[in-house]
Amino acid sequence: GFRCGIVGLPNVGKSTLFNALTETAAAQAANYPFCTIEPNVGQVAVPDPRLDKLAEAAGSAKKIETQLAFVDIAGLVRGASKGEGLGNQFLGNIREVDAIVHVLRCFENDDIQHVDNHVDPIADAETVETELMLSDLESLEKRVPNLQKKGQGGDKEAKAAATVLGRALDLLRDGKPARLTEANDPEEARILEQAQLLTAKPVLYVCNVNEDEAANGNAYSAKVFEKAKAEGAEAVVVSAAIEAEIATMEPDERGEFLNELGLEETGLARVIRAGYKLLNLLTFFTAGPKEARAWTVEAGSKAPQAAGVIHTDFERGFIRAETIAFDDYVTLGGEAGARDAGKLRAEGKEYVVQDGDVLLFRFNV
Ligand code: GDP
Repeated sequence: GFRCGIVGLPNVGKSTLFNALTETAAAQAANYPFCTIEPNVGQVAVPDPRLDKLAEAAGSAKKIETQLAFVDIAGLVRGASKGEGLGNQFLGNIREVDAIVHVLRCFENDDIQHVDNHVDPIADAETVETELMLSDLESLEKRVPNLQKKGQGGDKEAKAAATVLGRALDLLRDGKPARLTEANDPEEARILEQAQLLTAKPVLYVCNVNEDEAANGNAYSAKVFEKAKAEGAEAVVVSAAIEAEIATMEPDERGEFLNELGLEETGLARVIRAGYKLLNLLTFFTAGPKEARAWTVEAGSKAPQAAGVIHTDFERGFIRAETIAFDDYVTLGGEAGARDAGKLRAEGKEYVVQDGDVLLFRFNV
């Protein structure tokens, strides 16, 4: 599955947010009791109102949400790239995630110490990014010359890698993240992806504000949004304190509480939606009398890849996918109705899965 790593300086609200997200998700999940793989990894059920409608139309006995994993990556301090604090472990943990959720302190509170003694989310973001850039810089300064040598010795793959990673190295030397490296062809894109550079990962900034600022943000979060826009990153406003309160409430109390604060949905929902956008993910469904279930794939995935998310056998023996768009499935009263109305399509292995597709895979065992 896809993993988002929660990072940020100490005392910005990471643990509060992580705990709240995973507790709320556990309470919402119909079928996944909060499962802890490792103490710092939470599987979060992705809230999707379409699943309820689908289960109703299909007469499903149960509903299973799709999931996104959040990893609480504590331990970043200035000097992490030089092995300060839990530096190396921290950087290793980031290497393993698909996206970075960067929590920034955007709340004033004299009782809560800020590591640099004043609230400045832009400076904080730069502190964290600098550590990540230094780590990438150090790694590429070793790797690129090695690749160049191999390339001169006739290794074509190494030569290609030296070229594109050399461009990433130039950017890092300029104080810019590796994600700005342009890939000239799919081969270069693949090399960049496999290089697992920390600053090549997509970033979501979470502006942690006080309770009364959760609906509209504040001057700090506005600056973060500007920064995100300039970088092509995503940003959301969340009050970790509110999320922590919501986590302790019964689901039917939550709506009213959110209303009073001028909020339409939980921070959990906003963070997940932004995470989906960031990772370029979409949801497809399977539905039957037993269960209605949501699944996640990368946008652009073809039918066999989507089948593979359910089971590797489905991908290996893929014959075709029977597809009904979500709206048709629901308005036409399920599979039989959609079929009668001519809205069930048989699609082959080149079919690109669309968000909301209700799929049934036909496969050889
Ligand atoms: P971490 O070190 O980044 O994991 O930070 P914590 O989640 O432990 O939070 C540090 C302190 O800030 C705790 O005392 C939290 O209760 C407090 N805190 C977290 N989020 C908020 C918030 O939105 N508003 C206020 N006022 N305090 C918060």
